[in-house]
Amino acid sequence: MNSTVTPPGVIEADAVIIGAGPVGLFQVFELGLLEIKAHVIDSLGAVGGQCVELYPDKPIYDIPAVPSCTGQELTDNLLKQIEPFEPTFHLGQEVTKVARRDDGRFDVETSTGTQFITKTIFIAAGVGSFQARTLKVDGIEVFEGSQLHYKVKDPAIFEGKNLVICGGGDSALDWALNFVGKAESVVLLHRREDFRAAPASVAKMKALCDEYEMQLIIGQATGYEAGDDGKLSQLKVTGADGVTRRVPLDMLLVFFGLSPKLGPIAEWGLDIERRQLKVQNTEKFETNVPGIFAVGDINTYPGKKKLILSGFHEAALAAFGAAPYIFPDKKIHMQYTTTSPKLHKVLGVETPVFD
Ligand SMILES: Cc1cc2nc3c(=O)[nH]c(=O)nc-3n(C[C@H](O)[C@H](O)[C@H](O)COP(=O)(O)OP(=O)(O)OC[C@H]3O[C@@H](n4cnc5c(N)ncnc54)[C@H](O)[C@@H]3O)c2cc1C
Repeated sequence: MNSTVTPPGVIEADAVIIGAGPVGLFQVFELGLLEIKAHVIDSLGAVGGQCVELYPDKPIYDIPAVPSCTGQELTDNLLKQIEPFEPTFHLGQEVTKVARRDDGRFDVETSTGTQFITKTIFIAAGVGSFQARTLKVDGIEVFEGSQLHYKVKDPAIFEGKNLVICGGGDSALDWALNFVGKAESVVLLHRREDFRAAPASVAKMKALCDEYEMQLIIGQATGYEAGDDGKLSQLKVTGADGVTRRVPLDMLLVFFGLSPKLGPIAEWGLDIERRQLKVQNTEKFETNVPGIFAVGDINTYPGKKKLILSGFHEAALAAFGAAPYIFPDKKIHMQYTTTSPKLHKVLGVETPVFD
């Protein structure tokens, strides 16, 4: 039996959003229009989900009415758009526990011990808590963050350096092409001749190799050498011929993709199909647990497309679906942001005078 008195330090909420990717952020907006305030939790230290973690500088072309914006720009604009609703962010903490209470609400707890009691939950957890697949070379992890990188946060630190870039997907190829001409040298290391990256990028990479602008090595990193100063100085690369060669370097970039971990979400009694949360219907995007909604890349239903715009639509309908749990006696009407004085009030904008 849960106590009806909220214990000290526990946050009482109407809505908790798990995941601060683009869909989690837009969920704040859609809830805000219905006057529902949200707490947003993310295991990463920054908001933006995949857009910021995986492609902050790459342009996105299929956001309606935004011909082109980068992953970071999309995130910045979403943050600006949700400003009027003053969401509370709890970053750098993974949601570890979700349990239904006797009073119909939910207990939510994070890895850092933040506790909530909430009426509704919106799981916008994307591919789960994702971690980069690491390079399996004994001891090389000591260079992580200094000379070994699994993502590019600040491209400037790689300029003028001798780079070895590992991987055969889009990230590896895109960054290799990007650094040609900016880095002192670029070596792309991939374990086989086939690439997962876009054929155009592969063709461009091969052309640059023919022009001696960069180098491709087929093989696998099997060891390393450090200099007297303790710095990583050479990568040992074993080729298909079984011969191990030494490749000198200043910086090692590894793009082996992400290994998404559904993690604790799998333990909350939700229907799961191929590592995604099944929603009951496409009217509310509610899971099999009433009051818990799933939006964005984490959910699945017939015809699902893992696109940002699909997630935005789902967030709008999920907000309407959740409103009765928060305002059981209120009739909720859809209104236009253009013309509704009520929405202008919640958005903090002037109501225009139409002739
Ligand atoms: C290279 C690349 C290019 C892309 N280009 C496009 C494009 O052009 N157009 C398009 O529409 N889509 C594109 N996508 C897909 C798009 O990025 C995703 O559809 C979108 O990010 C999904 O948003 P989301 O908010 O559902 O999830 P995500 O962006 O994955 O965010 C989920 C967040 O939830 C957090 N999280 C997970 N589990 C927990 C937990 N237990 N506790 C706390 N936090 C948790 C994660 O840390 C993450 O920050 C691209 C994807 C990639 C990889």
